[in-house]
Amino acid sequence: MIVCKFGGTSVQDAEAMERVACVIKQRLKQKPIVVASAMGRTTDGLLKAASLAADGKKQEALEQVTRLREKHLRETQKLLSGSSRGDVLDAISLHFKEVGTLMRGLAVLGELTPRSMDAIASFGERLSTLILAHVFEERGIRSQLMDSRQCIITDENFTRAAPLFELTEAAIREQLGPAVKSGRVPVVQGFIGSTRNGITTTIGRGGSDYTAAIVGAALDAYDIQIWTDVDGIMTTDPRMVPEARRVKVISFDEAAELAYFGARVLHPATILPAVRKKIPVHVLNSYKPDQDGTLITDETPPCENPVKSIAYKKGITIVNIASTRMLMAHGFLKKIFEIFDLHKTPVDVVSTSEVSVSLTLDDTSTLFDVVTELKKIGEVNVDGGKAIVCCVGDHLRNIPGVAHLVFSALQDVNVHMISQGASAINVTFVIDEDRLPAAVRGLHDVFFQKLDSRIFE
Ligand code: ADP
Ligand code: ASP
Ligand code: MG
Repeated sequence: MIVCKFGGTSVQDAEAMERVACVIKQRLKQKPIVVASAMGRTTDGLLKAASLAADGKKQEALEQVTRLREKHLRETQKLLSGSSRGDVLDAISLHFKEVGTLMRGLAVLGELTPRSMDAIASFGERLSTLILAHVFEERGIRSQLMDSRQCIITDENFTRAAPLFELTEAAIREQLGPAVKSGRVPVVQGFIGSTRNGITTTIGRGGSDYTAAIVGAALDAYDIQIWTDVDGIMTTDPRMVPEARRVKVISFDEAAELAYFGARVLHPATILPAVRKKIPVHVLNSYKPDQDGTLITDETPPCENPVKSIAYKKGITIVNIASTRMLMAHGFLKKIFEIFDLHKTPVDVVSTSEVSVSLTLDDTSTLFDVVTELKKIGEVNVDGGKAIVCCVGDHLRNIPGVAHLVFSALQDVNVHMISQGASAINVTFVIDEDRLPAAVRGLHDVFFQKLDSRIFE
C-alpha cells in the first residue's frame, strides 16, 4: 500500500483534481491512500476571513467566505455531472453556511482564539476531500471519504497540535485498515485532527505532508509520495533561482535539515515517522506524473558535490546576550536556554564567544517576555530583518575548502552569524534579509557549477 499526498496547488481547481484522479487510477494496484490539502489558498482565505470578522469587519469577512464558496461550487460543477452532483453541491453550501455562522460568532466576540482558528481552517481540507472523493467515484475509482479527526488524535496545542502517537496509530489502523481491505481508496484530510475530546485541531501550516507520513508509518506503507507543483526537491527554491535542478536522491537527514531551515517543499516533521519505519518518501510533480521526482531514503549513493541543496528562511531576528560575568563562569548558557524553554520559544542557530551568545528566532511572539528575563543576566540586543541560509549535504564533512567556497560566494554580503551544524551536514549563516536573493544565487552558482549526474538531473 502507498500513501499519496496532494498539496494545495495539486488540488487547486478542476483540472488539477482531474490530474489527481489520473495519478490514482494509474496506481490502483499499489493500493493508494489519498491525503489531500485544501484547494490552493483556501486555508489562507479562511484564516483571513476569520481575522477580519474578529476585527469587527464582518461584511468583508462574509464577502471573503462567499468568494471561497463560489470557487468551490464552480470547480465542482466542472468536475461532476452524475447523480451525486446535486448532493455534493448542497453539502458544500452547508459547510459554508457553518463557516458563515462561525464568522458571525467571531464578529460578536471580537476575539480569534487558536481553537476557533483550527475550527475554521479545518473546512479547507474537509471541502477538498469531499469533492475529490466524489470525483474519484465518477471516474470509476471506488473511494471512501474518511474523517481525519477520528484518526489523528492530538494534544490541545491548537494551530500546532502534536499527534499522540499511540492513540493515532491505533485509530488509523482501525479507521483506514478496513477501507483499504475492502479495495476502496480512502480519501483523508491532511493537516487536521482532533483532541481526545473530539475538538478539531490542526498540526501546523503545511502539515498535510506530516499527516501523510503518520498514516504511512501507522500502516507500514511501502512508499510515501508527496505530490506537489515542482519536480521534486531542487538544488534550491526554484522561485528564487529558476535554474535550480532536481536532486534525484537525498538522505533522510539531509531532507530533514532542509525542511527545518525553510525548504517549504516538505514539512519538517514529515521525515520522522518515515525514518522510524524506514519508509522511502518520494517528492513528485503532479503536473508531470511520469517523472521520477526525488527519492528520500536512508542510503544514498556518493556525491561529488559537497552541497545537495540550499534552503533559506526569512523573517529572522537575532538576539544577542553579552555579559562579562560569563567569562570563566559556568551555568550561563543553561540560564539562557532555560528562559527560552520557559517561554516555549524555539531557537534555530546559536553561536557563542567568550562573553556573548547570539541566537536566532523566527517566532517573535514571546520576544518581549524573553528579553525582559534575559536582561536580568546580561546586556541584550535585538536585531530583526535577517534571513538564515543553510547549505546541506552529507559530504560537507569530508570535503575540504567548503568555508572558502561559501565566503567566495558571499563576498558582498555581511554575514552576522555562521555555524557548522553539529551533524556536520550543514553550513548555516545569518545575513540581512535584503541580501538574500544575491546570497542564494551566489551560493547556487558556486556549488552547482558542475553536477554529479548520479545525484542531479
Ligand atoms: P504543496 O502545496 O504541494 O504542499 P508547497 O508550496 O508547500 O506545496 O511546497 C512547494 C514549494 O516549495 C515549491 O513551489 C517551491 O517554491 C518551494 N521550495 C522551497 N525550497 C524548495 C526546494 N529546495 N525544492 C523544491 N521546492 C522548494
Ligand atoms: N492547508 C494547510 C495549509 O495551507 C495544510 C497544507 O496545505 O499542508 O497550511
Ligand atoms: Mg506544503
